[in-house]
Amino acid sequence: MIDLRSDTLTRPTDGMREAMARAEVGDDVYAEDPTVLDLQERVAAMFGHEAALFTPTGSMANVLAVASLVSPGEEVLCESSAHIARAELGAHGAISGITMRTWTRERGQVDLAAIEQLHAPDMGPFFVRTAAVSVENTHNFAGGSVLPIDDLRDLRSWADTTGTRIHLDGARLWNAHVATGTPLSDYGRIADVLAVCLSKGLGAPIGSLMVGSADAIDEARVRRKRMGGGMRQVGVLAAAGTYALDHHVERLADDHAHARLLGEALGLDPATVDTNIVVVERPDAAAFVARVAEEGVRIAAVGPRAVRLVTHLDVTKADAERAAAIFARLA
Ligand SMILES: *Cc1c(COP(=O)(O)O)cnc(C)c1O
Repeated sequence: MIDLRSDTLTRPTDGMREAMARAEVGDDVYAEDPTVLDLQERVAAMFGHEAALFTPTGSMANVLAVASLVSPGEEVLCESSAHIARAELGAHGAISGITMRTWTRERGQVDLAAIEQLHAPDMGPFFVRTAAVSVENTHNFAGGSVLPIDDLRDLRSWADTTGTRIHLDGARLWNAHVATGTPLSDYGRIADVLAVCLSKGLGAPIGSLMVGSADAIDEARVRRKRMGGGMRQVGVLAAAGTYALDHHVERLADDHAHARLLGEALGLDPATVDTNIVVVERPDAAAFVARVAEEGVRIAAVGPRAVRLVTHLDVTKADAERAAAIFARLA
């Protein structure tokens, strides 16, 4: 089976497992796990922020990050197919008491005109106050699309003039960085707070980080514990993330090349495949998923008429070529 359902399906490599086995550990609730502390410091510095916090999942990093900007009864604006709106099972409402309003734009892009329309400054007892805007780069359900750094800079300028804060869901920001060459610190500069995942294309079995100011991270450390996310000797897990940052970032370019190959076989213009995700329309997504499975390739339906394929560390060039040949034949 060639498994293209998600880049979360990767299994830790032998080198990663060795790094995990060797990791120095301590109690991370006491902030005494040296491997976790090193990873947090390293990732904060990569984005030019003061501090970072290791979390079990990207969803938890997003919940903590958004809650650091938006108080209960306030709102965050985001694109309508954003992960925070669709795939975190209502956590921002259920846990943080936050509401959302959305704009819709092709390929999940920033729409500053729509954001300006939606934006509600403090209007006393009349309207929910907009505290933050959230952007997702790369954009998962829009097909791994990159948000151009110039659009993000324009959003930052607007946010500064209106006193609005910015959350960046950077679960796959590494992919955007490799695809565009934009330095990670440039992405860091446009966001007040961000979340990044180690467990997607980077191939770690678990782990994400919230990145932000020292104050925001101190507060998030308390919230993380309250949510049951205080962890103990998790240097063994952080070591997998450190190993992934050392060995698995530049190779994301291979995943992107493989995804273009698959997109082309499915009838897309390969220039529209920005990174490691391909989303294509099919009249009956479930039937297409089942048909492809008969040929030994697993893909996912992400809507009644949309299927998604994701390339990753465990998909070789030969796998991608074989899958592309199957798609070409079915077409
Ligand atoms: C995967 C993902 C997350 C986090 O998901 P978890 O499964 O909770 O780690 C957040 N945002 C985006 C865009 C994602 O694709």
